[in-house]
Amino acid sequence: MNKNYRVFNFSAGPSMLPLEVIEDVARELPNYKGSGQSVMEMSHRSEVFDKIIKEAEADLRSLLNIPDNYKVLFIQGGATVQFSMVALNFMGGSHKADYIITGSWAKKAYKEAQKYGDVRVVASSEDDKFSYIPKVKKEDFREDADYVYICYNNTIYGTHFPYIPETGDIPLVADMSSCILSEEIDVTKFAAIFAGAQKNIGPAGVTIAIIREDMLGKAHPMTPVYLDYKTHADKDSLYNTPPCFAIYVAGKVFKNLLDKGGIGAIEKKNKEKANKLYGAIDESKLFSCPVKGENRSLMNVVMVTGREDLDKKFVKAAEEEGLVNLKGHRSIGGLRASIYNAMPEEGVDKLIEFMKKFEDENK
Ligand SMILES: *Cc1c(COP(=O)(O)O)cnc(C)c1O
Repeated sequence: MNKNYRVFNFSAGPSMLPLEVIEDVARELPNYKGSGQSVMEMSHRSEVFDKIIKEAEADLRSLLNIPDNYKVLFIQGGATVQFSMVALNFMGGSHKADYIITGSWAKKAYKEAQKYGDVRVVASSEDDKFSYIPKVKKEDFREDADYVYICYNNTIYGTHFPYIPETGDIPLVADMSSCILSEEIDVTKFAAIFAGAQKNIGPAGVTIAIIREDMLGKAHPMTPVYLDYKTHADKDSLYNTPPCFAIYVAGKVFKNLLDKGGIGAIEKKNKEKANKLYGAIDESKLFSCPVKGENRSLMNVVMVTGREDLDKKFVKAAEEEGLVNLKGHRSIGGLRASIYNAMPEEGVDKLIEFMKKFEDENK
């Protein structure tokens, strides 16, 4: 295989990174900015690394317009550890939390939280295979709930909240693992946001948590020191060794986004890519998408041919064309094209072209 050949990777995560970032990292790998060492080898207490982590934070703050009364934390353990951290840190008042269940990730978070308090399902779309986002009103939440939890973009089912739930004074917590940095968000509507890196931020290994300061310092007394947000907040994410290399690459992705015009610019591109692909699916007689209208995700496009054997054949044939990882999640089957920020428009065009060809050949 040609050494410079790169596939269009439609994986839900880990997923594509901007080629410029990868090339930049490759260039700097043996000798980062004259330090004579790679970031992989560098002390996390060194001045050089301090600059890397501070710049990454500053760039993320600027991209997402994060207000000063929010902490930005770089944590390990993936989004999955956040399911426990959210419950351990935020259920210190009434010990009640209200969850909206819109897919497997929300359900996992809910199950984890059940270990620590009185956790209730406010609404769920499981009745229709999580193909939509339920509507909720402020009155649906328990007034004394410690927080309300949502998964803003559902990676497996290809849905996205078309609205931000109105929770009044109840803190709203959101898993944004698969949509962070893809669209403008108003951070002030949330008390806490978290996202694993490997979808839209960088390599796996770092998870970003954006926490409003008043949410800190209320963790359950049994909370392991590493799982207390305050531990990380008090030490600027350097309580122990952070995932240095992942933070460094994430920082490069942030700069790359800023160079390209910020979140507004990438959101516009993402909408163009997603609209094209959904348009092709809606026009097709072979492919269909179970998610309708405003519930559709810009990042994860789920589709089926309606025949399992054809789905399989499609995945295999696409792979031969350099369009890889189009298989749906193992829990639901079908097909899924994850088109995160780093997926070039050309990749989406190639996919659409291939879908048309496949449809013609499989009438
Ligand atoms: C991928 C994903 C997770 C799990 O992430 P890990 O880093 O593997 O723990 C959780 N929530 C959402 C929305 C995801 O897309």
